Amino acid sequence: MPANIEKYQAILHELNQHNVQLIAVSKTKPNEDILDLYELGQKAFGENYVQELVDKAAQLPKDIQWHFIGHLQSNKVKYIAPFVHLIHGVDSEKLLQEINKQAIKQNRTIDCLLQVHIATEETKFGFDADSISELIQSGRLANYSNIRIKGLMGMASFSEDTSILTKEFSTLKQIFDQSSIQLSSDFTILSMGMSSDYALAISLGSNMVRIGSLLFGARNYSK
Ligand SMILES: *Cc1c(COP(=O)(O)O)cnc(C)c1O
Repeated sequence: MPANIEKYQAILHELNQHNVQLIAVSKTKPNEDILDLYELGQKAFGENYVQELVDKAAQLPKDIQWHFIGHLQSNKVKYIAPFVHLIHGVDSEKLLQEINKQAIKQNRTIDCLLQVHIATEETKFGFDADSISELIQSGRLANYSNIRIKGLMGMASFSEDTSILTKEFSTLKQIFDQSSIQLSSDFTILSMGMSSDYALAISLGSNMVRIGSLLFGARNYSK
């Protein structure tokens, strides 16, 4: 299935009015679908799986900005360190250490978002509110010479209950505002919102949304 061009243009128009950046989430989708949007000017794409990302990056235009939005295992950082544009899901200091080490090896600075656990579900990764505050106040982030902390990322519960989502997104926005007081002017990105909840996320302060199925259709994991 080709990408939904009309939907893409409508979403882009909506996001531009709010100064929100679109990450087109292309996981499990073929290169042709990515090129459909690339040819319209979309440069930022999000992927969840390291091997898939590495393969796509090798095959597709070099000016694509690849966002890693999945759960990243430390032993796989080295594969994406040479080219990744922004890592959204940084959820432990062990991972920060490894990203920093690989960034030094590549002689580059890697931009990262710290993932905050806002959902009530156990399965979503991320720092909890207390540990993120502790980490930021400790000053330890300054030890990572080759990492630039650009902001926060969070995923709300898998729920259609707007009051639950509102509570979770508002919590993340509050943590973001508190953190930005203490961190440098690089700290500007709040990545929250997906196909089902991006409008709500934007109304609650998101400035980067990660949208997949609305653009590319439902994913089929069975292949
Ligand atoms: C898959 C994924 C998305 C996109 O989900 P859609 O519901 O298809 O928009 C966004 N963020 C993360 C972290 C994802 O894994």
